[in-house]
Amino acid sequence: MALLGIHASIAGGISNAIDEGVFLGCEALQIFTTNQRQWKVKELSDEETENFIKKLEKSKIKKIYSHASYLINLASAKKEQHKKSVKAFLEEVKRSSKLNLNGIIFHPGNFAGQKEKVALKIAAETINKIIEESLFFKGKFIIELTASAVGKNFEQVKFILEKIEQKNKIGICIDTAHIFEAGYDIKNEYEKILKLFDRMIGLKYIEVFHLNDSKTPFASKVDRHIHIGYGYIGKEFFKKLLSDKRFKDKAMILETPKEKGWDKKNLNLLKKLAKK
Ligand SMILES: [Zn+2]
Ligand SMILES: [Zn+2]
Repeated sequence: MALLGIHASIAGGISNAIDEGVFLGCEALQIFTTNQRQWKVKELSDEETENFIKKLEKSKIKKIYSHASYLINLASAKKEQHKKSVKAFLEEVKRSSKLNLNGIIFHPGNFAGQKEKVALKIAAETINKIIEESLFFKGKFIIELTASAVGKNFEQVKFILEKIEQKNKIGICIDTAHIFEAGYDIKNEYEKILKLFDRMIGLKYIEVFHLNDSKTPFASKVDRHIHIGYGYIGKEFFKKLLSDKRFKDKAMILETPKEKGWDKKNLNLLKKLAKK
C-alpha cells in the first residue's frame, strides 16, 4: 500500500511533527520547516535537528517532505520579490538538508499579471539556478500542480520540465483537489487523465500525492480542500488511487482541514478504502 500520512504541525518544536506522525501511524509526512507566513526564519538549532532525526529514525515514517513557504514566488518578474523568493528557497533547502528530508514540495509561483510564457520561463530558470546551488541536498525538488497559479495544467508543467537541466532532481506532486479544480476529471476519467499525464509529463516523475477532496466543483479554478468523501471528488476516486499498483510505494499525504480528530478519521477512511 502507498505510504499514508498527513501534514504535521511543528508548533512547539520541529520534532513534535514526528510525534504526531507516529501517534497517527503515518508512513509519510509533510511539514513546514519554519513559519511559512513569514520571510524571516529562525535557524534550526543542532539540538532540535538531532532530536528530529533521532525520532525519525526510530519511527515507521519512510518519507518526509517539506512544503516551501507560500510567500515564495519563483516566477516573479519583480526583481525584489524574486530575489527574496530565491533566498528563502535556498534557506529552505539548507534546513531540509540538515533534517535529511526526502524533498521539498513547492508551487512554481504566481502569474501576478505577467504573460504565462514569461512566468513559466522565469520559474524554470529559477528552479535551475536553485538546483545548481543546492548540489549538497540529496532530496528532490517537487513541483506541485496547482488549481490556477503557475503549474495549473500539464502543458505548463511540461514546459517547465523541458527546460530543467538536472531532471533527475525533479519530482512531481499531484494534489487531487488541485488537478480536479484545474479541470482534470479524475473522478470520472481516472485512466484517461493518468494516461494524458504520462504522455505529457511522465508518471515516473510522480513522487507524492496530496490527498484532498475538493470543496469546489469540477474545473472551478478555486483551491479549497475538504475531508475525504465530503467534497466533489468523492470516495470512489480515492479507492481507485489507493489500490493503483503503480503508486504503491508513493507518499500520499492529507492536507485536509485541521479540525480536531479529523486527520485520524481521514486516515482510517483511506485505510478502509485501500483494503476494499
Ligand atoms: Zn502545496
Ligand atoms: Zn497540496
